[in-house]
Amino acid sequence: MDNLEQNIRQLVEEMVKNMSQNPAAETEKNTSGVFSNLNSAVIAADQAFHEFKNLSLESRKLIIENIRKASLENNEMLAKMAHDETGMGRFVDKIFKNELGIFKTPGVEDIQPEAYSDDSGLTLVEKAPYGVIGSITPSTNPVVTIISNTIGMIAAGNAVVFNPHPSAKKTSACLVSILNKAIIEAGGPANLVACIDNPTIESAKELMAHKKIAILVVTGGPAVVKTAMNSGKVVIGAGPGNPPCVVDETADIEKAGKHIVDGAGFDNNVICICEKEVICVASVADRLKEEMKKNGAYELNSEQIKKITDLVIADPGGPGKEGAPNKKYVGKNPNFIAKDIGLNLPEDCRLLLCEVSRDHPLVWTEQLMPVMPLVRVNNVDEAIELAVACEHGFRHTAIMHSLNIAKLSKMAKVMDCSIFIKNGPSYAGLGKGGAGFASFTIASPTGDGVTRARTFTRERRCTLVDYFRII
Ligand code: NAD
Repeated sequence: MDNLEQNIRQLVEEMVKNMSQNPAAETEKNTSGVFSNLNSAVIAADQAFHEFKNLSLESRKLIIENIRKASLENNEMLAKMAHDETGMGRFVDKIFKNELGIFKTPGVEDIQPEAYSDDSGLTLVEKAPYGVIGSITPSTNPVVTIISNTIGMIAAGNAVVFNPHPSAKKTSACLVSILNKAIIEAGGPANLVACIDNPTIESAKELMAHKKIAILVVTGGPAVVKTAMNSGKVVIGAGPGNPPCVVDETADIEKAGKHIVDGAGFDNNVICICEKEVICVASVADRLKEEMKKNGAYELNSEQIKKITDLVIADPGGPGKEGAPNKKYVGKNPNFIAKDIGLNLPEDCRLLLCEVSRDHPLVWTEQLMPVMPLVRVNNVDEAIELAVACEHGFRHTAIMHSLNIAKLSKMAKVMDCSIFIKNGPSYAGLGKGGAGFASFTIASPTGDGVTRARTFTRERRCTLVDYFRII
């Protein structure tokens, strides 16, 4: 770990040295991608975009390959930095989470052109870049969101300026300088990926209003998505969720118990797709709780549940009301949270299990921490009905454990979410142990779903009349 800390310090010092103190001169001198002034970052990225446009698709592929390589080489260091700086999540889980973004975010292969040919000739549809994207990233997944966004946005031919979350600014700046170095090494232009070293809500608003920003990609809570949607620009908005997990009497309870703890305990539940409340048919609820406990959950009694609720909920959610958690406990280890109600638990405890009634605030508030409410209901239809209500219409993510195909199908339809996971941990929906690609920007409010390179393109069509059909 000593070497790791030394590497981190060296990289941050190098990055700060590379940055000019004079914003006006920054664009000319600075090749690190990290700027002290938002306007300079956007101007530099715009210049990089125009250079990048002239490069071949083959060069784009090489650049992306090098981005993946550099991210992987620095993964451990970045995971540690993010953990130390934000105080959220689990170091080892962050390494896995970042790997998912590094390996499973689609690249240039995702922007294949389409062709239509008929008696009238040939039409070609290609996916073109927007230009410079303004991307706002969350504190909860600071590293993987930037890596995954960068791969997808650059594969699509864009440049990007990040306004990272203020509480992850050092990690984000360090990562942006690593990505820039990788791009330059692979023959790409400097500052194709840029950020500012001291992001604030004001700088996020400046980014949203900047003339040279072609499109906004926003990953965060309800406030930032709403602000971006009022900006007048095209927005890809990835907002909050409150994923319910329904377990019915036909489910493989042994597997369901393990999957729920694995999914909800992953990185201390900071990921937006993690299981946030379990709704279980009464006849199998005791067995499910036993299986969850075998896999690292600790069940609190009613007095402890009351104390923990007072501790972790800042604004109680309820039907039609989203509520808010106490930020002090977001992404913290279960034993850290438990200690504050006078309970000593081991470090390897993954989840605090709380059986509550259906109207309990823990069910209705997106907590982003390993405190898991479980509600007992009479039957699966009641479970699905409650799941729809406590998801608040975000249409983000839902999970179900069942072997009843009619009910699996019913829940998939009525939840109407961007991601629906059947019989697996939530992260299977992002390609970890489930088929498909990864992304950490799941744009439910704007309907783009699990974003990828093609999401960051605009379609252009070219029609040639009468000729070029070859049969
Ligand atoms: P947050 O909303 O506090 O911050 C996200 C970003 O928005 C930060 O960069 C922040 O500085 C900026 N921001 C916040 N309010 C703003 C405003 N009014 N104007 C301009 N900028 C503003 O979110 P967080 O706590 O870092 O992340 C957790 C939230 O993000 C959860 O609600 C989670 O569900 C959501 N999230 C969603 C996805 C997804 O893909 N849908 C992914 C990760 C996180």
